[in-house]
Amino acid sequence: MLTLFSLKYGKISAGTGINERGKGKNALAMRPFTHGRYELFKNRDTYNINSAEVIRSYYGIGEDPDKYMTCAYILEFTEKLLPEEEPSPRLFSLLTEFFSVMEQRKNRFLTLVIAYQLKALAICGHAPALDGCIRCGSRETASLLDVKEGGIVCQACAEKYPSNNTKDSLIYEINFGIVNILRYFLDHPLSSFEKLALDPPLEKLLRAIIKDYIEYHLDVGPLKSEAFLPM
Ligand SMILES: [Zn+2]
Repeated sequence: MLTLFSLKYGKISAGTGINERGKGKNALAMRPFTHGRYELFKNRDTYNINSAEVIRSYYGIGEDPDKYMTCAYILEFTEKLLPEEEPSPRLFSLLTEFFSVMEQRKNRFLTLVIAYQLKALAICGHAPALDGCIRCGSRETASLLDVKEGGIVCQACAEKYPSNNTKDSLIYEINFGIVNILRYFLDHPLSSFEKLALDPPLEKLLRAIIKDYIEYHLDVGPLKSEAFLPM
């Protein structure tokens, strides 16, 4: 069985007799990180791939183990996010854009993972609300990010929060800079992040925030490839 993500039909599981280790044009299109054209045959509820050809192969991804593991993680995350046979054209273009940017990139892959997952959250309707305090609407400088409530909290409202926040409360202390980075990631295409890399401490904090966001708001469950993600 193979999982395809198609522009028109979304996620499709299909069987095939084509061996990916073969040398023909069909076989090449069975490899991971390949954008291709697939001819499917539907028999009752199952699909079978009859023939396939490569449109674009992101072969550069396989040249670096860290890069490969990062892309495998993003694939697994995206697969878990997609319901069967429901089109998601925005996620489809985000994924192809991600591979394209990753292919060119030499290091600091985690910045792109953060940007990708934040954009995926936005596509699913769970982008953090950054335009004003989620409690009072004030546009004063934010001092907290409340993951459960889904947005930023101003200084005045933050003072009313209990001071002994535990890790389970999913509340982060943030500043103007963090809000601006989140905003920048949401407003710009991945393709413009080719040379962008966050400072490691900032990267670590944003990674924790986005991870909590995903765990709380999206139904993806644990990802096997996460253990191999280069940090
Ligand atoms: Zn407020």
